Amino acid sequence: MPSVEGHWIEVADRVLVRRHSELDLSVGLVLGDGGCLVVDTRGDARQGAELAAEVRRVTPDPWTVVITHSHFDHSFGTGAFLDCPVWAHEACRTDLVANGSTARDTWARWYRDQGRDDVADDIAGTEIALPDRLVSSGAELVAGGRRVVLAHFGPGHSGNDLVVHVPDADVVFAGDLVENGAPPDYEDAAPLAWPAALDGLLGLPGTTAATTVVPGHGDPVGRGFVVAQRAEIAAVADLCRRVASGELDREHAVRLSPYPRETTLTALDRVS
Ligand SMILES: [Zn+2]
Repeated sequence: MPSVEGHWIEVADRVLVRRHSELDLSVGLVLGDGGCLVVDTRGDARQGAELAAEVRRVTPDPWTVVITHSHFDHSFGTGAFLDCPVWAHEACRTDLVANGSTARDTWARWYRDQGRDDVADDIAGTEIALPDRLVSSGAELVAGGRRVVLAHFGPGHSGNDLVVHVPDADVVFAGDLVENGAPPDYEDAAPLAWPAALDGLLGLPGTTAATTVVPGHGDPVGRGFVVAQRAEIAAVADLCRRVASGELDREHAVRLSPYPRETTLTALDRVS
């Protein structure tokens, strides 16, 4: 049995982030009076149960869950938190229904290929739980007396990215729209639309120069980091546009890209 993974950091008043070495994942916990909000549930039933137990060590309050997007590492642990409200973008549910079991097979195989049969078995044995509070462009909820804003700014890292803003703490959970410590992941992305999604995040009413942004992977960052990453993602969008129009060849685009070769080629493939 693997030991308990991760540690909490408090990024603002009663807003915690749990950092994991597995995939460098960050999940969130917003505490309040008589309720709490869990942001993302990790990648399989066992990881979700471990996270739920660690939340229980922090608070006995009933929880609400919000999923930042449908990718397995953010959503497959949800079953451990039921029965509770589970918020997500409507396309998150659609994607989990249509592609969840394929993603489960793919990632189980990936972990097995890495020689990590324990994680592969955990994923393969996970029943995928679905969100039941669906958001199209935006919604507000109250968790433990604290107002939380959910916003979708169109496709970006995925087709169903949901940003979670806690205005009283000046914290934004960005999901994988923002990535710290590794290049952004374009596997399921809309490269041309991603910059506009980040503009939406940066323009959230109530955010300030001191806003803390929690990426889906890596340590929390400041607004300046997001502005810089937005510029890189916009540069990649421009390269994608120029390759698609025939103005630039792929190898030239790879040389001009702010990101590594594989990342850039993945982005180009998503637009061609
Ligand atoms: Zn993702």
